Amino acid sequence: TAWPAMKRNPLPQRRPKVQKRKADKAAKITQKNPTPPCAAIPKMKSLKNKISESIASYTARTGTAPQRPGAVLFDMDGVLYNSMPFHARSWNLLFSEIGIDMPEQEVYLHEGRTGASTVTAIFERELHRQPTEDEILRLYRRKTELFAGMGAVKVMTGARETVNICRRAGATTVIVTGSGQGTLLDRLDSDFDCAFPAPSQRITAYDVTHGKPDPEPYLKGIAKAGTSPWQSVGIDNAPLGVESSSRAGLFTIGVNTGPLPSGTLKAAGADLELDSMEECAEALGILLL
Ligand code: CA
Repeated sequence: TAWPAMKRNPLPQRRPKVQKRKADKAAKITQKNPTPPCAAIPKMKSLKNKISESIASYTARTGTAPQRPGAVLFDMDGVLYNSMPFHARSWNLLFSEIGIDMPEQEVYLHEGRTGASTVTAIFERELHRQPTEDEILRLYRRKTELFAGMGAVKVMTGARETVNICRRAGATTVIVTGSGQGTLLDRLDSDFDCAFPAPSQRITAYDVTHGKPDPEPYLKGIAKAGTSPWQSVGIDNAPLGVESSSRAGLFTIGVNTGPLPSGTLKAAGADLELDSMEECAEALGILLL
């Protein structure tokens, strides 16, 4: 898969050599073992096909061919950190304490909204009224308490590799998160080797007027990176986040790291839907290196 801009911004031609080495290796394996050599080769091929299709879909959707990305914009919860199971469980526990059933899976559909907006949506649906400001404050404080009690959040498997590939390719890495929680933002520098310095490469809850699914957070992210939408990739795991990136005009990768049914992120506007950050690292390796 070549970005149409490869001509405009040529990179050292490393890929043909890699492909040749791979082809030589595959040929050797085939000689030794006439049965199908390994499952990874068809899988790689199908990922390349998916990427080609997604570039075509982006071009059809925006009327502009994507160029080789100068920036990659990352959502935080559920992309860089495996924090969503804790968020889902703490929202579910919180509402069960006041007699409301909010299935954990539903939390992923609200992901990207502010806490106040989530409480309001559930109150309107279940209690047919708006929450008071005091209720919002009290419930969100309790939710934060439940979340903090669940232990240390781990870096998502494959996230460091994905970030490192972007850096090796010379792409600017930017965080675009609706979160304002210090617990994870404070860890970014040590967990990701200063790939997201504050404030030059971060958009958080405090930087935007309209949160996801509005395009504002991703538009502000590309402004920080100094690139254009068609020269940028957005990576998000939630339908509202994917919608935000897609509406901002970025080539959008939806990574379904949670329990959403397959196809949900494509339906929300993702050009490419992947199943894990490990697969995302593989895809960015193909796109950028
Ligand atoms: Ca997220």
